[in-house]
Formats: sequence, C-alpha cells, structure tokens
Amino acid sequence: MALLALALCVTYSVATRPRSWTPPAPLRPAVVSPEALAKRLVSMQAGWPRSRRFDCTKLKCVALTFDDGPGEYTGRLLDLLRAHGVRATFFVVGQMVAADKDGRLTRRIVEEGHEIGNHSWSHPALAGLPREQIERQLKRTDDLVEHLTGVRMRVMRPPYGSTNDRVVAELRREGLAEILWSVDTLDWLNRVPSVVAKRAGAAKPGSIVLLHDIHRSTVEAVPAILATLEKKGYTFVTVSELYGRTPAAGRSYSER
Ligand SMILES: [Zn+2]
Repeated sequence: MALLALALCVTYSVATRPRSWTPPAPLRPAVVSPEALAKRLVSMQAGWPRSRRFDCTKLKCVALTFDDGPGEYTGRLLDLLRAHGVRATFFVVGQMVAADKDGRLTRRIVEEGHEIGNHSWSHPALAGLPREQIERQLKRTDDLVEHLTGVRMRVMRPPYGSTNDRVVAELRREGLAEILWSVDTLDWLNRVPSVVAKRAGAAKPGSIVLLHDIHRSTVEAVPAILATLEKKGYTFVTVSELYGRTPAAGRSYSER
C-alpha cells in the first residue's frame, strides 16, 4: 500500500510540474504513459461513466455484470470486451483490489470505460452484520478504489444478494445504489462455457446479467455471450447507462 501511495504521488506531481522539469530517472513512473494519464483524467470528470448516451426505452439494452474480481482472468476478459467495443460493470471485492498488483486491473477497468461498483471488502452476507461492520465493508472498498482510480463508486451489489433495511440504509448513507440482477447464469455452479453462454443468452431487454470474472469458464463463455446477444440486436451498456443516469443512492434495482 505504501508503494501504491508513492506511485500515485509521483504521477500527480509529474502532471503538475512545469514542462521543462525532468524528473530524475529513478523517480520516473514507468507505468503511466501520457495516454494512460489522459484516460484517467477523463475518468475523473464529473458524470463519469456517463460518457455515452443510450435510450434504453427504445434500444434493446443489456447490462453484463462481473462480480468478485479482479482476479487472474480479469485481464483476459478486459481484452475480450475491448476487442468487441463492449462496456460492462465490475462489482469488485476490496480484498481482491488490494491484492491486484499496483492496482493494474482495477485501473484498467476504469480507464477502459467500464463501470466499477462495490461488492464489499471481504464478501460476507451483509444482512447478518451489525451496522458498524456493514459501514466498514462499504467504506474500505470505496476508499481504496477511489485512491487507486480517482472514481467514487455509486453502485453496490451485496454479496449473495443478502440485504435488508439496515443494509439499504447504510448504502444510502454511503451514496450507493443497490444493484441486484434479473438473469442468474449460475456460472459459479456450472463451470461449462456453453451452459453459461446459453443462460446469459436468455436475457430480455433491460436485463442485468450476473456473472463472475473469477472463473475461467465464465471468461471463456464471453465470446459466445456477445455473439448470441449481438445477433439478437442487443446493445451492451453499463448499469448506469441502462437507466440513463446514475442509479439513486439507497434504492434497489434488478432490471430496467
Ligand atoms: Zn460475489
């Protein structure tokens, strides 16, 4: 974490120094190109990720959502989505973000225009926890993602869909909307790409599809999911794009 903080400090200080100043070689940040920095600055603008507009009252929209990462297959998934020009929503687990080396995948999610959402810090069933622990589960992940990407998350998916009035009240306080789902691919149970693709392919206009990018079989199913839904005329959108605005804090959504 200290290294990450140092990397961020170096990045920001370089961005604000006069052009003539050249940092000494050992301090030059190796990973932040001007292009990457430009993308990150765009992602920090007010209104992100509403950089695109879709009228999902007229279009056949579907929101693919990937939970529990970032993990070892997330990079491959991001490559696939980029190759197809598709944006999705990633509900990340704080502990996984903390384990993501240099925040590389977490930043890629944001820089490549996907929506990032909170999926708690350690994936407990929130409905069984006292208020203080629910707050801690939300805040820790919110703060880490903001530290790494500059983005304050606005959407949250409770692990296992475990929720109640106390959870929702805490989400409202933290400025988060609760995002459930309408199509469950059960990809954690059946690790067969063709089965996962078939279930996701049953999406209806306005569906929010539940997937998990920590499973290789799910990522392997993505080309078939995209092909099937593209053929049916679907537009792939993020959760906020599905509603045409950032979902309201403390409200619950499962489809459009
Ligand atoms: Zn989960």
